[in-house]
Amino acid sequence: MKTIGLIGGMSWESTQYYYRQINQGIRQRLGGLHSAQILLHSVDFAPIEALQHAGDWDAAAKVLSQAAQSLESGGADFFLICTNTMHKVADTVEKSVKIPLLHIADATAKVLQADKISRIGLLGTAFTMEQSFYKGRLSQQHGIEVLVPDARDRETVHDIIYRELCLGTVKPASKKTYLQIIERLQQQGIEGVILGCTEICMLVNQADTSIKLYDTTAIHAEQAVDYALRD
Ligand code: GLU
Repeated sequence: MKTIGLIGGMSWESTQYYYRQINQGIRQRLGGLHSAQILLHSVDFAPIEALQHAGDWDAAAKVLSQAAQSLESGGADFFLICTNTMHKVADTVEKSVKIPLLHIADATAKVLQADKISRIGLLGTAFTMEQSFYKGRLSQQHGIEVLVPDARDRETVHDIIYRELCLGTVKPASKKTYLQIIERLQQQGIEGVILGCTEICMLVNQADTSIKLYDTTAIHAEQAVDYALRD
């Protein structure tokens, strides 16, 4: 079994799902008392969030590159960045080490392609919904058309992530709001919705809607298990 490196803490509310789901996956696959070999480098999210909103992605990339290097020197065989948004700096972070990165958009695309999805809705932070590092990778490298909510809904989705979910606050009113936004996205003829922020699974899940949801936290964790057990 390979050792999985996790860059977490963005926010820690979602990193705990990674820890749990990866361990559950290893137990399911290997049985008994087996559990995952994990190294976790969990950062302080407040300065990272400040750098994101100041647009200083180079400084944020430096922090994550140092985290990746610490995982590599600690013995991780590959690593995950446990947030969609910070994949904006994934190329720089990946180049700072020799161990491979399991990219969250590639992991998600793999599942979408297996389900033959070609037109998908995306919810996430404004960075993820509006910039090309995520949507562009899905469309250019994987041929999947990505639709996002309108500007007002994007702002709402973004604010709920940073002001509530990353702080561990889950409000029924926000759940209702998200489901309404998903309904409006559905009117654009999508075949599913990517929960493209690792905290959204705290708020909505498959039981809440008829449209197929793709939870990037669960997908990423599951593929980490696959990769760890591959020869
Ligand atoms: N965890 C979130 C994501 O998947 C948002 C927090 C962050 O900005 O990293 O995008």
